[in-house]
Amino acid sequence: MKNRMYADVKTWNSFVGCKFDCSYCKPSFQRMMKRVSGANGCRDCYSFKPHEHPERLSKIPSADTVFVCGTGDISFANPKYVRKIISAIKDRIKKHLAQQFYFQSKNPACFQQYLSDFPKDNTILLTTLETNRDEGYAGVSKAPVPSRRYADFKALDWLRKIITVEPVIDFDHDIFLEWIVDLKPEAVWIGYNSRPKEVQFPEPDKQKLEKLIAAIRDAGVEVKEKDMRG
Ligand code: SF4
Repeated sequence: MKNRMYADVKTWNSFVGCKFDCSYCKPSFQRMMKRVSGANGCRDCYSFKPHEHPERLSKIPSADTVFVCGTGDISFANPKYVRKIISAIKDRIKKHLAQQFYFQSKNPACFQQYLSDFPKDNTILLTTLETNRDEGYAGVSKAPVPSRRYADFKALDWLRKIITVEPVIDFDHDIFLEWIVDLKPEAVWIGYNSRPKEVQFPEPDKQKLEKLIAAIRDAGVEVKEKDMRG
């Protein structure tokens, strides 16, 4: 499945679903899964219940970059099953040395247990930080609050990291910039909520967001802009 959020990436859904219940997920991932699973498809995909698809373990896409279990959050997967996913990747890269694999979670602490298993040169760890503000975040998602996520992502002794600031929620410039630079990501992806008619939260204005983007770039970090609303 071609990934709609990230260009040149294919999603490999050997695990699907999530219980974090982000307000912006229903009109995006969850709606898409209802559409693709349709009337006769997988009922657990339809309801977005976390579940395994072991029949897909041997079907890793051939894209340069593969988003591992990108339609869901892998923190809900059984660690034994995640190790099967990592094992399948290790088999794959015996022949495709340069293929890259994105593992993304809003509970990045879950990656701690796999650090010695991930193939070092091929694995990039990602987390989302929509804002630095914990206050009010419970109304957006049941995932760990941003400060917890920042601390847990920082604690991962892993060289290759990416942060997604999408959908961006209003933030405190100095604190948020400090967090992002401190995490030493190889890239940051930033964008507004792409479904503002269906879900709303406090957002920074364009000027504030552009100031943050410029400051991140000044710090030497690559920024990829997503939905910038023109
Ligand atoms: S963490 Fe991701 S998959 Fe889970 S509800 Fe939020 S947006 Fe959806």
